[in-house]
Amino acid sequence: MTNQPVLEVEKLKTYFYLEDEKVAKAVDDVSFSIYPGETVALVGESGSGKSMTGLSIMRLVREPGKIVDGTITLNQTDLLALHNREITSIRGNDIAMIFQEPMTALNPVFTIGNQITEVLRKHKNMSKQAAHKKAIELLNMVGIPRAKEIIHEYPHQLSGGMRQRVMIAIAISCEPKLLIADEPTTALDVTIQAQILELLEELKGKLGMGLLLITHDLGVVYEYANRVMVMYGGQIVEHSHTKQLLQLTKHPYTEGLLKSIPNMEVEVDRLGTIKGIVPPAYQFPKGCRFSDRCPYVMEKCRESNPDLLEVASNHEVRCYLYEEGAHGK
Ligand code: SF4
Repeated sequence: MTNQPVLEVEKLKTYFYLEDEKVAKAVDDVSFSIYPGETVALVGESGSGKSMTGLSIMRLVREPGKIVDGTITLNQTDLLALHNREITSIRGNDIAMIFQEPMTALNPVFTIGNQITEVLRKHKNMSKQAAHKKAIELLNMVGIPRAKEIIHEYPHQLSGGMRQRVMIAIAISCEPKLLIADEPTTALDVTIQAQILELLEELKGKLGMGLLLITHDLGVVYEYANRVMVMYGGQIVEHSHTKQLLQLTKHPYTEGLLKSIPNMEVEVDRLGTIKGIVPPAYQFPKGCRFSDRCPYVMEKCRESNPDLLEVASNHEVRCYLYEEGAHGK
């Protein structure tokens, strides 16, 4: 990894302006960076703001949503200062995103070959023949057998795992500096999941790109991420290196997430759950956004939202249990 981050997000705020003057703070004051060759996982339940963070980086937030504050810098280019035409060129070229369900991203009426060569011709100015040759290379690279035949097939003729590989081939076709993978394996069965994640890991090494892995699966995080950011209520509530965060967990929300997954080494009658649900982004409780669900809630938690504080080297937590003078859990 080099010292220069490929992506720097600073105090990003993406709000949705709803009816009745409600404002949904989907992403609220989020800052982080990703270095080349690094996998950073963004973890949390549905509705915590993970996907909206990814879409904000891609500048794909739709009305009534809007990026209202902050900066997003990709290899020293301020993405929020770019015109739509410029961001379209950066998207696909320098930064790419793969989604949970490839069928929604692939066009059902075009062949796999058409969809890959279109990107190469548009972004790399390749001739038809060169793009065709490169498309076959890419399909081979992502482990698609019979690439020369598959290139003439349509998305519905392929399995879910194969479609996801095609999406990855399209995403990496221009060798992006940053790949955002939003729940890339959730729709796939377990063995295919592992293959796709191994493939992303291998490609990340080959291309030296940074990977933002959006997931709710802490098992995937443990295997593949260098660092983890846990998100709740549109904010990062805990951030550290993967091992440190999973072994020296500080935030009550992270603790709840960890208790809710099976552990082969510990026998329990029932898995833990986090009571309640993620509040809608237009209706966070006053004070700490996790206060209605937190087993350690204190009076002051209901009054104001804590800041993200460094509680140990490379370990940040947003919780009053760790402010100066407090004793933790
Ligand atoms: Fe729980 Fe209070 Fe910490 Fe929020 S600040 S996570 S309510 S202890």
